[in-house]
Amino acid sequence: MRQEGDAVFTNLHLATMVGGYGEQRDGAVRVANGRIVWVGPRAGAPTAGARIVDGGGCWMTPGLIDCHTHIVHAGNRSDEFEARLNGASYEEVARAGGGIMSTVRATRAASEGELLRQSLPRVASLLAEGVTTIEIKSGYGLDLASEAKMLRAARRVGAMLPVDVATTFLGAHALPPEFAGRADDYIGAVCEQMLPALAAEGLVDAVDAFCERIGFSNAQTERVFEAAAKLGLPVKLHAEQLSDQRGAQLVARYRGLSADHLEHLGEEGVAAMAAAGTVAVLLPGAYYFLRDTTPPPVALLRAAGVALAVATDCNPGTSPLTSILLAMNMACTLWRLSPQEALAGCTVHAARALGRHADIGTIEVGKRADFALWDIARPADLSYAMGFNPCRGVVNAGVLRAPMVSWRD
Ligand SMILES: [Zn+2]
Repeated sequence: MRQEGDAVFTNLHLATMVGGYGEQRDGAVRVANGRIVWVGPRAGAPTAGARIVDGGGCWMTPGLIDCHTHIVHAGNRSDEFEARLNGASYEEVARAGGGIMSTVRATRAASEGELLRQSLPRVASLLAEGVTTIEIKSGYGLDLASEAKMLRAARRVGAMLPVDVATTFLGAHALPPEFAGRADDYIGAVCEQMLPALAAEGLVDAVDAFCERIGFSNAQTERVFEAAAKLGLPVKLHAEQLSDQRGAQLVARYRGLSADHLEHLGEEGVAAMAAAGTVAVLLPGAYYFLRDTTPPPVALLRAAGVALAVATDCNPGTSPLTSILLAMNMACTLWRLSPQEALAGCTVHAARALGRHADIGTIEVGKRADFALWDIARPADLSYAMGFNPCRGVVNAGVLRAPMVSWRD
């Protein structure tokens, strides 16, 4: 990889994402030591002593951020997908050993290297679309050794590919078979054994749980949040996906980074999130794949001033999606987000959902020089197209990764 050092990226249109799109036509950005040191019109760019990188008339956005994924896992569930489309019921699939436990079995059986080998191509698919930061959750190991294996593999993704990885411990994702009928005992193991050990190994940036009738109760989730708080770790929550469990109020009470899914979120939950500054992470891939019909209350969230993020939720059961651009399109088509909201949802607001908004998410002086370069006519193109990738280059901390190819010449 070539070190750009002190460089001026010029001949570009900027969507800085500061106050809406924050458009700067015919703009330039100067970077030094991986940070943005100047942003403005090309004519005024301080070019002395810097290498010039010609953007070829591309649009530059902040590097995209996928702030909710389960992208490290073994196996997939296309067999269930096919069986169900051929008429099998959920019960028949479950009796045949399907569902989340099939992913748990495959993930437990895989070595760390095998887990990594299967996960890297999925991550690469996101990176090709301008993603520079990705959150990766555990939650298919459900015992200390297997959760540690998942989180170590996630950290290695960040070491092997040009992407920053935020890791989230999701031990409270599902009840493992060895704890059948003893959910409270399992939560005890999550809080007293798994989380402290994984945090001590430096594997946990945030703590998450699945608060749902088929997941864990509000009281069990609160025990997990208490354990996280004791370790000084921020929390987030899979909340209100299938029913209103008042999870949004709970995560807001812990000043959580985000509440995610939210299809069944009520007005009280919206108000609690607004008061706490908790981000709403919208996951249209799961809604689409499950053919759900209850959309999250986008208008209420918007009116309350809750920041809206958009993510892939990449997972083998309900959202086998590795395109952040398609997630943006779905957020617009299915839930009527504007293209500007969708782009903010994968940049400035996604950064906030990871607690990294001081460092990434906008093109502003002082932030890390993570950018995506696009051969597009206007920023709305990113949400508009389906299955088309106009990314022409990615810059990680000032380093131009892909050679830029422009069709404009
Ligand atoms: Zn999820």
